[in-house]
Amino acid sequence: MSTSTQVQTLIVGAGISGLATAAALGEGADYLILEGDDQIGGYCKTIHRDGFVWDYSGHFFHFKHPEIEAWLRARMPGQKIRVVDKKSFIAYGGRQIDFPFQKNIHQLPHDEFIDCLHDLYFARTPPAGGAPAPVESNFKEMLYARFGRSIAEKFLIPYNEKLYACDLGTLDRDAMGRFFPHADLADIIRNMKVADNRSYNSTFTYPEGGAFEYVRALASAVRSDAIAVGEPLVGLDVERRIARTPRREIRFERLVSSAPFYRLAQLSGLAHDPSVFTWNKVLVFNLGFDRKGPRDVHWIYYPDRATVFYRVGFYDNIFDTDRLSAYVEIGFPAGAAVDAQAVLPRVLADLERAGVTNGGHRLIAHHSVVMNPAYVHITQRSIAEHRRLAGELRARGIHSIGRYGGWTYCSIEDNIVEARALVAGFTGGS
Ligand SMILES: Cc1cc2nc3c(=O)[nH]c(=O)nc-3n(C[C@H](O)[C@H](O)[C@H](O)COP(=O)(O)OP(=O)(O)OC[C@H]3O[C@@H](n4cnc5c(N)ncnc54)[C@H](O)[C@@H]3O)c2cc1C
Repeated sequence: MSTSTQVQTLIVGAGISGLATAAALGEGADYLILEGDDQIGGYCKTIHRDGFVWDYSGHFFHFKHPEIEAWLRARMPGQKIRVVDKKSFIAYGGRQIDFPFQKNIHQLPHDEFIDCLHDLYFARTPPAGGAPAPVESNFKEMLYARFGRSIAEKFLIPYNEKLYACDLGTLDRDAMGRFFPHADLADIIRNMKVADNRSYNSTFTYPEGGAFEYVRALASAVRSDAIAVGEPLVGLDVERRIARTPRREIRFERLVSSAPFYRLAQLSGLAHDPSVFTWNKVLVFNLGFDRKGPRDVHWIYYPDRATVFYRVGFYDNIFDTDRLSAYVEIGFPAGAAVDAQAVLPRVLADLERAGVTNGGHRLIAHHSVVMNPAYVHITQRSIAEHRRLAGELRARGIHSIGRYGGWTYCSIEDNIVEARALVAGFTGGS
């Protein structure tokens, strides 16, 4: 028989967002975290296998708020943390081009460079005779309008189609927000003489024990008896403020959910259009080999459609270890059937063809995980429907936060900032 409990703040999800919410509420606060999985951490989990340390794809930390970084580090005694200057490349036509592609077209073969420069210039030049400027009503149009056909079609479109696994024409113009490396004509020309490839993640930090060390740090500020793992939210009465799990009913004053928004919307029973929420999923392979692979690189982008993955990263070049420890990312539509074991031989063949491995490498450990959802498809309809429905939920004391609760593109630090701001709003009364 199910029991009934009561709590002031019910938190759904013990990933970064849920833990940061509980930590911000403080030790003495009346909260309970429901976590459907049997472990905390959400997408920030770490796997230790045969001496390799792997995350759910590379999870690197780029802090804009020094006080957040200091708060976390103070809770990580004894943990070695590297601050790394990022080195990333694009594999293009048998050579390596610095990232971002659009700022490094001068590294292309001469003919292709001229094509890119020509198309960029005329895309950027105001149309003669008062003709209307090209439209940018979606992500794909934005790429053509700002960078011209050649840059768009050589890198930006094929790479992002592999990642998002959708028609880029359906995405909002700002679908990647601050994570898109914008550059204007002057930036691109200037870069030909003096390289400045800085981006939001030019330097990143990474703990020796993997991304989960940051989760551990957050969790150290959360009462462990207030985290119920293996207990998903499965029902919600939004009017009476009652949550249901397989074990009990929980009355709450307010609910903070980091579950994917489409799931919260479905549980809420509020009228909405579920078809506006679409996303990709990412199959991640973590691969440990018996010897070193490429040096001096943290990750490589693969726009070529003939290569199954869109990105490969190198954990072994963060702490300079002596065996290739790679993560490989492959994008799929949300509804696609994914059989990791069947894909692995293709991944290994493509790594060999791409020169990441060289015939002598022996795979000695591997792991795979499907991140679903991974990148949400931010469209004009998803923005409008999320805003409307999140407002209706908020009016009932239900707050949807985090990368998937907010149906957005963001970093771990953004999740912590958002959780803290939400809790600060509660103390003003909610
Ligand atoms: C491929 C990839 C690479 C990334 N790399 C980086 C990076 O390098 N740096 C960076 O800063 N960010 C990165 N991110 C983003 C980062 O993973 C997220 O911002 C962050 O993990 C989101 O945390 P969250 O708590 O909001 O969500 P999640 O981690 O998804 O946590 C939500 C939790 O809710 C639980 N849950 C869901 N439904 C229910 C339910 N009904 N009941 C109970 N519990 C439920 C889930 O089990 C999960 O534990 C990356 C994301 C992806 C997809």
